[in-house]
Amino acid sequence: MHHLSLPHTDQNTQRVLTGDRATGQLHLGHFVGSLAQRVKLQHQYKQTILVADLQGLTDNGHNPNKVSSNILNVVADYLAVGIDPLKTTICLQSKIPALSELTMYYANLVSVARLQRNPTVKNEIANKAFGASIPAGFLTYPISQAADITAFNATLIPVGDDQLPMIEQTNEIVRKINAIAQEKILQECKPLLSKVARLPSTDGQSKMSKSMGNAILLDSTQKTISKAVKSMYTDPNHISIDMPGRIEGNVVFTYLDAFHSDEKFVANLKAQYQAGGLGDGKTKKILEDRLQDLIKPIREARANFIDDKSQLIAILKEGSERSQDEANQVLNNVKRGFGLNLF
Ligand code: ATP
Ligand code: MG
Repeated sequence: MHHLSLPHTDQNTQRVLTGDRATGQLHLGHFVGSLAQRVKLQHQYKQTILVADLQGLTDNGHNPNKVSSNILNVVADYLAVGIDPLKTTICLQSKIPALSELTMYYANLVSVARLQRNPTVKNEIANKAFGASIPAGFLTYPISQAADITAFNATLIPVGDDQLPMIEQTNEIVRKINAIAQEKILQECKPLLSKVARLPSTDGQSKMSKSMGNAILLDSTQKTISKAVKSMYTDPNHISIDMPGRIEGNVVFTYLDAFHSDEKFVANLKAQYQAGGLGDGKTKKILEDRLQDLIKPIREARANFIDDKSQLIAILKEGSERSQDEANQVLNNVKRGFGLNLF
């Protein structure tokens, strides 16, 4: 179902880093856009996953409970989908001070205009209706993300397509730092997009995301899943079964492409739908069955993990401690690059 085109040549030199804002539970968009890839990548590469609590604060500074209350939710979601803390380092952004320090160094190399041009930031600012009160931390979060990526010498970033502008900005910073240091102290990175790099919300209107309240969470009940699929946007002009229907923009087919493993079966279904004679009730039932099968084991595993908070904390603590040295070393190199190595 998930097509990975991994570079096979330099498996030992590639480092994987990615993360999620601690702003809510993870959803099907995370699963198909990034989590499923991470579960595979952890067997081949050294992988670090960051629970981005600081980044979560950039638009929740006045509502920090939203962030603090979701940190362990995110860790439970990781474990439930099969991320193994023995293979993947799971760490907490706020517990690695070098990340914030690196951000301050990089911030001197990025103009405000460049940040305002970042298409994802631009789009998010429009959605969040900050008005004239955009938090400085929010505008600059691409810089802090560059710190996260470079602090772990990451070269491969499994993300959804909303993250492409962040990776581009990170590489700009990397090139600037290396030019200043006159030495290749930082590595450039590249995105690893899955087959479904942007899962739409069930209404087809936007990207499924935590903060839009339009997500199918990975612990959804059977009833919630059923309701979400029944409400999905299809072809509004497909009003009787025998009429030909459109599959473009039809969320049910987008989800079947994303989550059904039998491509031939889905191709056949599409052909029938386009020819006429296949009703939305039937396609929705096929999708619902598939999503029920996918989510049930995740929901059940998650219920056990979230019950044991001390285990989740221990995993985060251990991963954060394990991450300090590497991040500190990168920070020291960057300081040295700026000539700040008097003692
Ligand atoms: P928020 O609304 O707080 O920004 P989010 O739902 O966008 O939350 P993030 O924590 O910002 O989630 O994203 C974590 C990772 O999941 C990123 O790599 C992002 O590209 C990916 N991702 C998030 N939503 C989707 C989606 N709908 N489709 C594909 N990938 C996604
Ligand atoms: Mg996001």
